[in-house]
Amino acid sequence: MTSLMREPVFWIPYKRREEGMRDMKNVISAVCIRCGEEHEALPGITTCRKCGGMLDIQYDYHYIKANVSHAIMSGRGEGTMWRYREFLPVTPESSCRKLRVGGSPFYEVPHLAEQMGIAKLYIKDDGINPTASLKDRASAMAVVKAQEAGADTIACSSTGNAASSLAGNAAAAGLKTYIFVPERAPKGKVSQLMIFGANVISVKGSYEETFRLSAEAIDRWGWYNRNAAINPYLMEGKKTVALEIAEQLRWKMTDYIAISVGDGCTIAGVWKGFKDLYAAGMIDRLPRLISVQAEGCCPLNRAIETGKAWEAMAENTLADSIAVGVPRNADKALHAIRESNGVVVNVSDEEILAAMRLLGTGCGVFAEPAGAAGTAGLKKAAELKLIPTDATVVSVVTGSGLKDVANAMKAAGEPLTIEPEMNQLLEAFRKSGGPR
Ligand SMILES: *Cc1c(COP(=O)(O)O)cnc(C)c1O
Ligand SMILES: [Zn+2]
Repeated sequence: MTSLMREPVFWIPYKRREEGMRDMKNVISAVCIRCGEEHEALPGITTCRKCGGMLDIQYDYHYIKANVSHAIMSGRGEGTMWRYREFLPVTPESSCRKLRVGGSPFYEVPHLAEQMGIAKLYIKDDGINPTASLKDRASAMAVVKAQEAGADTIACSSTGNAASSLAGNAAAAGLKTYIFVPERAPKGKVSQLMIFGANVISVKGSYEETFRLSAEAIDRWGWYNRNAAINPYLMEGKKTVALEIAEQLRWKMTDYIAISVGDGCTIAGVWKGFKDLYAAGMIDRLPRLISVQAEGCCPLNRAIETGKAWEAMAENTLADSIAVGVPRNADKALHAIRESNGVVVNVSDEEILAAMRLLGTGCGVFAEPAGAAGTAGLKKAAELKLIPTDATVVSVVTGSGLKDVANAMKAAGEPLTIEPEMNQLLEAFRKSGGPR
């Protein structure tokens, strides 16, 4: 079913900009996850030169250990993702700090833990980022690498948030963007693109078709590519959410991390982050991943359940950010879930809407559907006894509910609407069980 989806192999030989750039002392190379071929980690690298496989940035953990510690980390004033620069593919000269990305809130919510029947629950709210999703972490990284590559235009295709985060982060850095979104992308996200001045192409088709068109266009015009399947640096940006979670837990890891999964770049990035910390001796154990997909679109979870290769699926869910029928980071995501001895769980749209209400009413966190899906999956995993009652869990909220108010209203319902008169208020209260 997926054989026709073979990617063209991109190899854009961007030259390293000379002035001010030094080698990244912490980075060894970019290794192909399929054939093991090593590549110099130049800012413009895409996929494996030899076999077209995806690349993974490899670090020198001895160097990292020698240069950073818990105490050094904790003493830093920098409250953004760049606080972890030793773990990132940047140099001290990289011009990182455009928007304030990362440093998102982390809440312990004992009453929800009790309600779900688990020992501890923490919510990591990544909707509190400059463009209101976790994707800012990847886009901020993409902008840095694009500038190092000497590019003036970045492009991507996206279900919405990769696009809006790229548009915002690129605007802050003075770069031009071309952005391809499927027509169904919610208005909130499209409005972000327009206000950030992106060149927006709304494609009358699925995300899959949108992706293919963008790949062709990027190839044709030689733009810097922010598609997560192609650009190995994006995962490095996304992994900073894991680094932050570890620090916010004071380096004492929980048993599980619940994450919603579309292309699979986020869950793979989270896993990479924990593995990097583990390899550098900064955490003493690795958590297990809880991979959450929508019932109507769960190709990766299905592959784990059946033990077979993944197959494309239709995109039947209101959680647009994870409506990904042909996942672009399947190899890395499946590897991460398996290596962590992870748990997979699929949730219905009703369960996602219920989790939006739960996060809203239970802890004042406003999530978009895909942002709440992780919490929906965690709740379901607890109910199905896929995780034990003494489990400690972090659930990552990946995007803000303000991006998709139509679905928020679907989750929460409509307010009482009356004429400005007391007798109407009394009548409305009587009907709804309000005060007498
Ligand atoms: C992109 C996205 C995800 C899933 O990330 P993938 O890397 O596609 O798996 C989840 N939630 C939100 C809000 C997103 O924007
Ligand atoms: Zn290869």
